[in-house]
Amino acid sequence: MKQYIKIEISQLLGILLIFSTIGYLTKQPYIAMGLSLIAYFAKHAYYLTRLASLIDSESQISPPYPPDIWGLIYKELARHRMRSRKRKRTLNRFASRFRKVATSIPDGLLILSKPGSLEWANPAANQLLNISWPRDEGVPVEQLLHLEGLREYLEAPDYQKPLEFPSPVNRAIILSLRVAPFGSKKAQRLLVVRNITELYNLNQTRRDFVSNVSHELRTPLTVISGFLENLSDNQMLEFQKRPFLLMLQQAERMNTIINDLLALSRLEMGKAPSSEKPVFVAELLNKIVDQARALADQKGEYDITLDADDELCVVGEESELLSAFSNLIYNAIIHTPTKTKISVNWRRQEKTACFSVSDTGPGIEQHAIPRLTERFYRVDKARSRQSGGTGLGLAIVKHIIGRHDGELRISSQPGVGSRFDCTFPEEMVIEKSQLQPQQTSKC
Ligand code: ADP
Repeated sequence: MKQYIKIEISQLLGILLIFSTIGYLTKQPYIAMGLSLIAYFAKHAYYLTRLASLIDSESQISPPYPPDIWGLIYKELARHRMRSRKRKRTLNRFASRFRKVATSIPDGLLILSKPGSLEWANPAANQLLNISWPRDEGVPVEQLLHLEGLREYLEAPDYQKPLEFPSPVNRAIILSLRVAPFGSKKAQRLLVVRNITELYNLNQTRRDFVSNVSHELRTPLTVISGFLENLSDNQMLEFQKRPFLLMLQQAERMNTIINDLLALSRLEMGKAPSSEKPVFVAELLNKIVDQARALADQKGEYDITLDADDELCVVGEESELLSAFSNLIYNAIIHTPTKTKISVNWRRQEKTACFSVSDTGPGIEQHAIPRLTERFYRVDKARSRQSGGTGLGLAIVKHIIGRHDGELRISSQPGVGSRFDCTFPEEMVIEKSQLQPQQTSKC
């Protein structure tokens, strides 16, 4: 920089010297001085206008010689232009690669603007949803998709669960829609639409199969149980009593499994809880804990405590929540030895509400925890069977809590105890004081 300033100053001094000599020789010093200033400014005006035209045009920039302050500016401009050309080339290459990838992806991709109108869509979106870009650019996505619940889904605070719906192009195709927010403050959204027909049909077949088999087994089992009960009531020889008792016990066990399988099928088939009434959880828990204490008394001595916020209600289906909560409370009695401390809690956790059951029982190994909600998974198969467990209880609990938009979390430490938390989001929680009089009188 210093070197350019030196050149600039020496150029100015040179011009002044030449013109002052001319002024001295012609005896016109002021005119010569004026001419020198005009010459100096003319040079700057020339390079300035050249610079302006160079900025506008794409032509090659050649810095003036000698390399004065204009040389520095021209050189910097040339360097900047070269860098931005390189960046443009890289961006173009990247954009064309992105376009090729987006075109070949079988999933439909839609980019939405901040207010929710279409900015861009790939060709798969046209095949799956009949949404074409640029034809539909700027149209609100709700007008393009006509999907019930789409607005609520897009406005939800998180998008953990996908939205499943039949394709508007062909209703036999089942699609799953997920949202990936991106951009500054995650204000823009990328919708990813996937064809899940095969998986959906497979699941449907599995559900139908389990449900049909359970229904088909129920009738013969009722007949067998009825006969066994009649026979065991009659007088029988001593050596016949034990096999009959065992047969009756096994028939009862099969009945429990079938009932649990049917309950699970029903839960899987329905999308949302069948009722959306406020459930008075504290009252529900009082009833369950009373019954649980009676069960515990049969087994031995247990220390069961209940601490429930009487004001806190959850919106949903009471019979389902009763099943989930009692499953967890009974598990704490069934899978722990006597003298175990069991605490049942229902309280607010910031804006959410949490139901929890913790015990000081034997606990569960870490590797088993993620598998507990799988159907028929039992940590100790033999012991669970003895205690009458089917291995379906926690799968049922997970489904019920999920249907109420909640989350089941399990934590445990062998030798210390286990804890089962069911957290319900803010929108499912309601205070008793917020309810209408007729809603509270129902409880
Ligand atoms: P089950 O019908 O056997 O109770 P669940 O699905 O309810 O089936 O539970 C799965 C397994 O999780 C049980 O078999 C048991 O091994 C374990 N389990 C559940 N609750 C507890 C608990 N409170 N303490 C220790 N183990 C538990």
